[in-house]
Amino acid sequence: MDEPVTRRVVCPGSFDPITNGHLDIIGRASTLFDEVVVAVGVNAGKSGNLFSIDERIDLVQRVTADYGNVRVEPIDGLLVDFCARHGIRAIMRGLRAVSDYEYELQMSHMNHRLSGVETLFVAANPLYSYLSSSLLKEVASLGGDVAGLVPDLVLSALDERLAERRAKSA
Ligand code: ADP
Repeated sequence: MDEPVTRRVVCPGSFDPITNGHLDIIGRASTLFDEVVVAVGVNAGKSGNLFSIDERIDLVQRVTADYGNVRVEPIDGLLVDFCARHGIRAIMRGLRAVSDYEYELQMSHMNHRLSGVETLFVAANPLYSYLSSSLLKEVASLGGDVAGLVPDLVLSALDERLAERRAKSA
């Protein structure tokens, strides 16, 4: 008999910070695969990150702990190399709107060409389909109420970080 195969999927992103939209995708991945590896990008995003890599990993770990089959790792470099190192053959991405589609399609073709890894797309939960970490940070930094869009412990971390920033620039 063949050895049973552990079916793993990776959910990559910058998670600065993790939102309920990300969490919805990770939760759905955790019901479909034996193991989910959340790959948190080390590199700073275009506008710089609000949270350090260690802080982002810690937040993702804390809000996914209950799933039981989710592991969180930093990623630096090509996603296909990360997949090869971790024995992963599938990437899961959430599609929020048509605007996500073009870039995602391009990336999925390139990743497939580089290593044969498959990309699976899941439709974003309509409750969060307008949500991105950058919009969340923008609204929160201007004083908007973002409760319900991120887990409570992320909301506290966000409030604290924005208060620190305000104190620094005062
Ligand atoms: P980040 O906002 O952390 O930079 P990315 O844009 O790198 O996130 O996306 C990481 C993954 O999470 C992508 O597959 C993206 O489509 C998905 N994603 C981000 N926000 C949402 C959301 N609100 N609903 C569903 N999927 C989302």
